[in-house]
Amino acid sequence: MKKMLLLSAAAALLSLSAAAQTPTFDQYFENKSLRVDFALSGNAETQSAAIQQLREEPVWSGPKHNLIDKFQYGGYYINVYDKASNQLIYSRGFNTLFEEWRTTEPAKHESQSWNNSASIPYPKQNVIVEITARDRKDMKFYPLMKTEVDPKSIFIDRGKLKENRVVAIQQNGDPTEKVDLVFVAEGYTAEEEDKFIADAHRFAEALFKTAPYDQRRQDFNVWAVAIDSEESGTDYSGKGIYKNTALNTGYYTFGVDRYLTTQDMKPIRDAVWNVPTDAIFLLINADTYGGGGMYNFYACGTAGHPKTPEVFTHEFGHSFAGLGDEYYSSEVAYSEFYNLDYEPWEPNITTLKDFGSKWKDMLDATTPVPTPATPENQELLGVYEGGGYVSKGIYRPKQSCMMNDLKAFCPVCQRAILRMIDYYCDREY
Ligand SMILES: [Zn+2]
Repeated sequence: MKKMLLLSAAAALLSLSAAAQTPTFDQYFENKSLRVDFALSGNAETQSAAIQQLREEPVWSGPKHNLIDKFQYGGYYINVYDKASNQLIYSRGFNTLFEEWRTTEPAKHESQSWNNSASIPYPKQNVIVEITARDRKDMKFYPLMKTEVDPKSIFIDRGKLKENRVVAIQQNGDPTEKVDLVFVAEGYTAEEEDKFIADAHRFAEALFKTAPYDQRRQDFNVWAVAIDSEESGTDYSGKGIYKNTALNTGYYTFGVDRYLTTQDMKPIRDAVWNVPTDAIFLLINADTYGGGGMYNFYACGTAGHPKTPEVFTHEFGHSFAGLGDEYYSSEVAYSEFYNLDYEPWEPNITTLKDFGSKWKDMLDATTPVPTPATPENQELLGVYEGGGYVSKGIYRPKQSCMMNDLKAFCPVCQRAILRMIDYYCDREY
C-alpha cells in the first residue's frame, strides 16, 4: 500500500514538473512578432547563418499553445530559449530555397549568400535565438547560429512599413486560432489591383473545393495584400525577358523553365508586416505554367494558366503541409536531393528505413510492401516505388496524388494537411 502511495506521489510530482516544462504564451511572450532576418551563406559543402536585422511587428498569428513544433519537418529550425532558465519556449521548422540551391551543380564550385526570414512571438525577457540546420549526411539538426536578444534593445527596428491595401477574402476568427493564408500580389500594376483581388478569390475557391480543405474552410482566414509592381508580369531570364516587379520573381530558377520563385524573402516579409500571416502564396500575374513551394517559407504560382488552380494546390501542399513531390519523371535541377540511407522528413514519401514513422498504420494487413503499380491497385493505398524525383529507392502512398499528377490528394497527404491545420488552430495535433 505504501509503495502504491509513493508511486502515485511520484507520478503527481512528474506531472507537476511536466506542467512546469510547458511554456505558456503569456508568461514569455507579448501579442506581437519579432521578425528575424538572416543571411544563409555557403555552398554544397558548408553553410553559415548571420543576423541581418531584427524587427518588432504588430501581429502574432501563430498558435499560442502549440509553441513547440513537434513535426520535425524542414531543413532548418528556429529555437527560442528563455535566457534565465534555458528552457525551450518556442520552436518552428522551415525550408528555404537556398538549401535547394545547395544541391545544384553550381553550388559545388561557388558560394552564395541569400536573404531569409523567420518570425517568432515577441519575447518579454531576454532570450537566446538559435538557428539549426539539418545535415543531409545523417538527417540530424546542428546549430548554425545562436544570439542573445534583449527585447528592449534600441537595435530592434520598430518602424512602420508601407501600408498596403489589405482585403479580407474570408474571416473566420482570432488569427491565433486559425490558419491565416495570405495572397501577395506580384507583377500586378496599380491599375491591376482589382484583377489581383479577383484572382485571389478564385484561387481561394479552388483550394476550398479540394479535399481535405473542403471540410475545414472554417479553420482559415484568407487575406489578399495588393502590393503594386512597376511593370506587369515576371522574369523569363532564359528568354531574356526581365520585368520590374515588387518581389523580383522569375522562371528558370536553377535553369528550369517552369520553376518560378524568388530568392529574396525580405520584400515578401515587408509586404505582410502588418497582416496575420501563417502561410504565404505569391500570386504572380503571368499565364505560363509554373510555380514553386517550400515548407513554411512561401508558395507561388501564376494567375493565368488553365492548370494553375491545381498547381496552386500542389505548391501549397509543399509550403503549408511539408508534403514532398511524389513524381519522379520530370526534369529537376537537383542531384541526389534525398539521402536514401535515411528516412526523408516529408510525411508522404518513404525510403522504408523507418516506415513505422510514416503511413504503415494506414495500410491493410494484406497490402504487399512494396506494392505493385498494377491497374487493379490504382485506388489501393500502398507503397509504390518511385517518388521524390527518383524511380528507385523512394516510395509513394498511391499511384496518383495531387503531389504527383495533380489529381486528388492521397489519404496520407490528406492526413498530413489536417494535422497541420490542427497545429495552426491550436488544437492537439
Ligand atoms: Zn500524396
